[in-house]
Amino acid sequence: MRSGLLLTALLAGGCAFAAVAPNRQSDVVETTKGPLKITPLYHGSVMLEFGGKIIHVDPWGQADYTGIPQADMVIISHSHADHMDPALLKTLRKEGSILVAPPAVTDTLNGTVGDTDAISNGEKMTFLGVEIEAVPMYNIKFGSGPGKPYHHKGIGNGYILTFGATRVYFSGDSECTPEMKELKNISIAFIAMNPPRTSPPAEAAVCAAAFHPKIAYPYHYRGQKTQEFADALKSTGIEVRQRKLEGE
Ligand code: ZN
Ligand code: ZN
Repeated sequence: MRSGLLLTALLAGGCAFAAVAPNRQSDVVETTKGPLKITPLYHGSVMLEFGGKIIHVDPWGQADYTGIPQADMVIISHSHADHMDPALLKTLRKEGSILVAPPAVTDTLNGTVGDTDAISNGEKMTFLGVEIEAVPMYNIKFGSGPGKPYHHKGIGNGYILTFGATRVYFSGDSECTPEMKELKNISIAFIAMNPPRTSPPAEAAVCAAAFHPKIAYPYHYRGQKTQEFADALKSTGIEVRQRKLEGE
């Protein structure tokens, strides 16, 4: 047997999860409905695996998707190029895969990458046993001018995905909004910190301290010091998981 085949056989026998490239750091969280594997990939792109299904959040082709499994479900926050990548969606989706996104995204894709399901702020849907709640994602002060935010309220979605009793939040490209501060019962939070499109790390920490997830992952942080976020939360009991995201 060649070593590659042997490795494949070992992975298949020893691990319930699909193999991913070895340079990715994954975490497994136990939920009331089984393990949830979390693999931050790049910038705002995160892969989740739950119940044998693969969920890609904001997959972007700047990441190396070689060896990354195709999506049973894709969730997209908004239409900016680092979150909605039609070319990648064509290869990352497979027969019957689900795509959930705000209407601005589904309208833009317009059927070119397969069926889509539109969801807006405040709405909930359930697919593959995972509840998906769309929450606000927007700018308060950052924009190209007064009244011209980079992200308009109501257009893009942050998300809360529920796996058993475990609730996982993705901020999308948001500043620290009143709605983010009032999030409840979040187990794991992915929080963007990439000004001027989103909050800087210190401000992201203000929001994290307010809604108090058990675990917080800085993501979408290109060039920012995520340690500032971690330091600001040191005495809060929130576990900050800093991950090297390729190209960040
Ligand atoms: Zn954006
Ligand atoms: Zn972005």
